[in-house]
Amino acid sequence: MNITENSVVSLNYTLKNHATGEKIEETSIENPLVFLYGVQAMIPEFEEQLAGKIKGDLADFSIKAENAYGMFEDEKVAMIPGNIFHGEDGKIDSEFFFIGAMIPMSDNEGNHLRGKILEITEEHIKMDFNHPLAGTDLHFSVEVLDVREATSEELEHGHVHGEHGHQH
Ligand SMILES: [Zn+2]
Repeated sequence: MNITENSVVSLNYTLKNHATGEKIEETSIENPLVFLYGVQAMIPEFEEQLAGKIKGDLADFSIKAENAYGMFEDEKVAMIPGNIFHGEDGKIDSEFFFIGAMIPMSDNEGNHLRGKILEITEEHIKMDFNHPLAGTDLHFSVEVLDVREATSEELEHGHVHGEHGHQH
C-alpha cells in the first residue's frame, strides 16, 4: 500500500548535515523508525516527502533549517545566576555542570526544556536552549521498509503498537 494518512510506516534513514555532509544519526534494519503517518509526529516536510511511497522505495531529500528544527535564536541563550546550581557546599558541582553538558531545566510556567552549558563563571552559567539542530539544514536518505494500515486502537492512541512501538 501507499503511504497515506493513518499508515504505519517503517523506514531506515540516514540523517546528515546538508551543508557539511556530517552524519547526525541513522537507524538500522534491526532498529528502524516506525511511526504513525499524518499525526504530526514528524517534521511536516519529512512526511510530505514520503507521501504515496511504497515498501522498497528510496527517497533522498533536504529540509531547510526553518522547516526542520527552526533557526538559531539568540533569545534562547540565557545567563542564569550561578547560585541556582550551587550544591550544599556553595559551589557548582563540576561532575554535572561543565561546558557542553545538557541540563534538564524548567521555565517559569513549568515547561521542561534542556539547555546546553556554553560558559561557566563565578557569577553565572550561560546556557543555550535552542534545539541542538536549530539552524541546521538537514539531508535525509530514506528506505521505506514497510507500510501497513494502522489498527483502530493505534489511531485512537495516536501512536504505533507492537515491536518498535508502544508496548502496552
Ligand atoms: Zn497505545
